[in-house]
Amino acid sequence: MSQSISQFCQSLSLDNEQLAIDRNPQFAFKVPDTFQQQIESGNPNDPLLKQVLPLLSERDFRDDFPEDPVADLAYNPTPSLIHKYQGRALLIASPKCDIHCRYCFRRHFPYQEQVNQRHWQQALDYITVDDSIHEVILSGGDPMSLSENALMALIEKIEAIEHVETLRIHSRTPIAAPERAPQDAFITWAKQTRLHKVMVVHCNHANELSELSQSLLRQYKQVGFHLLNQSVLLKGVNDSVEALTELSRKLFEQGVLPYYLNQLDQVAGSAHFLVDPKTAIKLHLALREQLPGYLLPQLVKDIAGKPYKSALA
Ligand SMILES: *Cc1c(COP(=O)(O)O)cnc(C)c1O
Ligand code: SF4
Repeated sequence: MSQSISQFCQSLSLDNEQLAIDRNPQFAFKVPDTFQQQIESGNPNDPLLKQVLPLLSERDFRDDFPEDPVADLAYNPTPSLIHKYQGRALLIASPKCDIHCRYCFRRHFPYQEQVNQRHWQQALDYITVDDSIHEVILSGGDPMSLSENALMALIEKIEAIEHVETLRIHSRTPIAAPERAPQDAFITWAKQTRLHKVMVVHCNHANELSELSQSLLRQYKQVGFHLLNQSVLLKGVNDSVEALTELSRKLFEQGVLPYYLNQLDQVAGSAHFLVDPKTAIKLHLALREQLPGYLLPQLVKDIAGKPYKSALA
């Protein structure tokens, strides 16, 4: 798995020199096999390639791209828990991901300090005493990068908190590395839990969806998960009406409804992915002309200090 960037480029017949690759990126290079298999060989503009290939432009410093753009650390009542919004709290269930997305807004988050079993217990204690929290969101990192045992142990503790009604899982694993997503114990649990179940996957381009993701998502749907998708609007990846229309259609084919199209969180190192807000709003309007309302994601931005994701259009 831990192949070098050079091996990766070689296997995709990419010209190293042309691409201005960062060979020693601060946020490590990581691509799962399934995701790599869907990258077109010899195409430096492949929309999946762009999401994972470290470029030297990640080192460009800009004042308007700080390390914690959404101020998560200001809403961090106990390590590993982010409680920003009414009625729901977000638990950072894992310090790892199966894929490293170059635009990720959590790339500078101090995971190592934040995520361990002792911290989970503190977070669960916090949720237990705050009965306004009806929904717990497992996020990360990626909660599905945990071992199935660790994930199930955590989920069962959440289920035991009476006022929690809904469990939501935010994960890119079912799309980027479906072969690693939890199945047996997780599916068995899902069939009988009292909790409402929501899964928000993360897919930015139709090419990320495969037969593997389809069969996995079908299983999750059959056991009662509401399947939603969030994507990030990314320059050179999905910033066209065609790409976004195809994404919505193909998600629907796999049983998933589009939820959020996120305006990029302006985290240090991600400036080359930014679609300016005016262009984003125009794109969204054009998308509205193409799709039925139920396939139109909400264009939103995480504005630091706001108690919700703000609509841009
Ligand atoms: C995005 C986010 C949520 C979930 O927001 P919804 O609008 O309910 O999808 C919850 N907590 C935090 C900290 C978030 O960033
Ligand atoms: S999977 Fe999600 S949390 Fe992990 S690197 Fe990608 S965007 Fe970031």
